[in-house]
Amino acid sequence: GGPISATIFRDMMRHAGLAIIEKADWLSDLDGQIGDGDHGVSMAQGWRAVLHALDDAPTDETISQTCGRMGSAFLDAVGASSGPLYATAFQYAGHAVADRLDLDAPALAALIAAAADGITTRGGAVIGDKTMADAWIPAADVARQNADTDVVRLMQAVAKAAEAGMNATADLEARKGRAAKLGKRSLGHVDPGAASAFLLLSGMRTYLAR
Ligand code: ADP
Ligand code: MG
Ligand code: MG
Repeated sequence: GGPISATIFRDMMRHAGLAIIEKADWLSDLDGQIGDGDHGVSMAQGWRAVLHALDDAPTDETISQTCGRMGSAFLDAVGASSGPLYATAFQYAGHAVADRLDLDAPALAALIAAAADGITTRGGAVIGDKTMADAWIPAADVARQNADTDVVRLMQAVAKAAEAGMNATADLEARKGRAAKLGKRSLGHVDPGAASAFLLLSGMRTYLAR
């Protein structure tokens, strides 16, 4: 449960990226129900680019700089709407920890809250719109509430909140993104962006709790 160094941070993000790439077919299947079926492809492309970017990171790079590197890589690689949303999330996350050499629980909470803020600022979604924000906003709330614990407990609580948020999207009508065109026909389906948000946060959790 000790602080996350820059090296551990990069390993944790690699692990989370691989977890998303592994589930790309599931994400595309979800997107096939209420969108254009490419979310798994978009996310796998984005995260493969992030994995390459992480390999290129100098060993003395700060967490903040690494987040900036991840954002640029994701933006360049992904044409879908999730591209700029995650690029902004990584940028905001990096700015939130610009003064940190490692992440204790309060700093990790600040990073997660900033990522969520980047997504909502960029995309304009609010809770209940049936987007990735429905996983990210509760994750950020729970991160802030658990900022006085340790990084493992924090991520366990965050991943749980993201999972609940993801599952709750099945009962929502989409009001943002492609699925909004379906109106009530989007009911009964989990939002793919909320699903990939859960995979990311649970991948971080699994790495830290290893
Ligand atoms: P595209 O819709 O361009 O094919 P993706 O399939 O990669 O993009 O991503 C779709 C996901 O993006 C949706 O499931 C939703 O979670 C998320 N999304 C779309 N628009 C927004 C928005 N304005 N704010 C937050 N998330 C959004
Ligand atoms: Mg799509
Ligand atoms: Mg698309």
